Amino acid sequence: MASQWLGVNELAANVQTGKTKAVELVEQALATIAEKAEYNAIIVTTEDRARERANAIDASVAKGETVGRLAGVPFIAKDNFLVFGAETTAASNILKGFTAPYQSSVIEKLEAEGAICVAKANLDAFAHGASTENSDVFTTKNPHDTTRVPGGSSGGSAAAVVLDMAPFALGTDTGGSIRQPASFSGCVGYKPTYGLVSRSGVVAMASSTDVIGPLTRTVEDAAYIMNIIADRDELDSTTIERDPAGYALGANNTSLKGQKIGIIKEYMGEGLSPAVKAIIENSVAKLKSAGAEIVEVSLPSLPMALAVYYIICPAEVSSNLGRYDGQRYGHTNPDAKDLDESYMGARGTGFGKEAKRRIMIGTYVLSSGYYDAYYKQAQTVRTKLIQEFEEAFKDVDFLLGPVAPTTAFKIGENANDPLQMYLSDVMTVAANLVGTPAISLPAGKSGELPVGLQLMAPQRADRALLTLAKQTEELLV
Ligand code: GLN
Repeated sequence: MASQWLGVNELAANVQTGKTKAVELVEQALATIAEKAEYNAIIVTTEDRARERANAIDASVAKGETVGRLAGVPFIAKDNFLVFGAETTAASNILKGFTAPYQSSVIEKLEAEGAICVAKANLDAFAHGASTENSDVFTTKNPHDTTRVPGGSSGGSAAAVVLDMAPFALGTDTGGSIRQPASFSGCVGYKPTYGLVSRSGVVAMASSTDVIGPLTRTVEDAAYIMNIIADRDELDSTTIERDPAGYALGANNTSLKGQKIGIIKEYMGEGLSPAVKAIIENSVAKLKSAGAEIVEVSLPSLPMALAVYYIICPAEVSSNLGRYDGQRYGHTNPDAKDLDESYMGARGTGFGKEAKRRIMIGTYVLSSGYYDAYYKQAQTVRTKLIQEFEEAFKDVDFLLGPVAPTTAFKIGENANDPLQMYLSDVMTVAANLVGTPAISLPAGKSGELPVGLQLMAPQRADRALLTLAKQTEELLV
């Protein structure tokens, strides 16, 4: 289905020259959101502020003033970004009623270039999940089959892009939450190098793996957005310097000759659905015939990555969720007789099952007596994994594999089986633990359901990865 949106650079160019009005773009986005409300991709719109900003941009254009590189371009933010114009709840009841007193750095950067946030997208509460079924608001439906999940946790963002509600959306990826929904719903999902995009003003999940990135229709759009949002930020001390060459892609980067790409052996074996495997193998064949050199690469600690992630992530979650105590944000316990009752009442009724599960696991693996056996051990294996990726990247320029072992599963299929749900992340968590950039590209369909191809590069090689992804996208479409 053809999109109603042009590339983000073209949309902005048309607004800059007065050919299109920012107001028209915003109305188009809002109309599509309203028309496709039954997919539950959007929690709330920020329409008043969006219209105000669009009018201001159109007025600037009329006066001949310079407007930004994303002038008038509508976008949707996952509801764990602090954004003016609506509540930020991260789809959790405990944040109901919370309106942000400041905006996330990424939103500020996008707004400075004229982009306009039109809505907040659904997610698994606090980004804990792989299907949006952990959302306290509703479950988003897959755009290709409404009986299936869109993936998660950025399932609302991915579905919104595929449903054409806006030209791009923002997501967060702590263990796969941009790439896996991009794969399940059928769009491009980019997870940058850890630290390349500021996390200031985004609800924290696991601080040592959280990253922010775009979900788009094309790699070119993803690169264009990255070029605007990637930067050092004094409000996030983990941010790194951007590539002096930037991230926007030039037109003449079409040769795959001489690129050495390693297929990750551990991702191609047991547990991978035959349909996904066939599509990945087909993509590999196309890369080969376009001149890429493909070799098999083994990362022996990879089978332990999921276990490592499900120790480190809950440990960090249990700490980050400590701040939601019913005193400062959103949901409170008004009947409490003392402070203990206030804490327990607010947390007991405000958090959902998955947040509680992670708080308990995290507290357990960090507690004295268990710390050495779980948390310390997990950190040791994490270091080993980082070394294995470094070794692999001495031999190959990029790594390749599936994004997830299956296509989108049925709503309800894994909802009561957390371990089965966690298995959906088996091919995405390593990039988060290691900090490398990774992208999910639409590679084909099994029946109606999209399948993503995952490409990874060494830390800070985001520009090279986006370039490779663009070349690959041209082969796959
Ligand atoms: N599905 C993974 C989890 O539940 C990843 C979540 C994420 O990246 N936010 O932890």
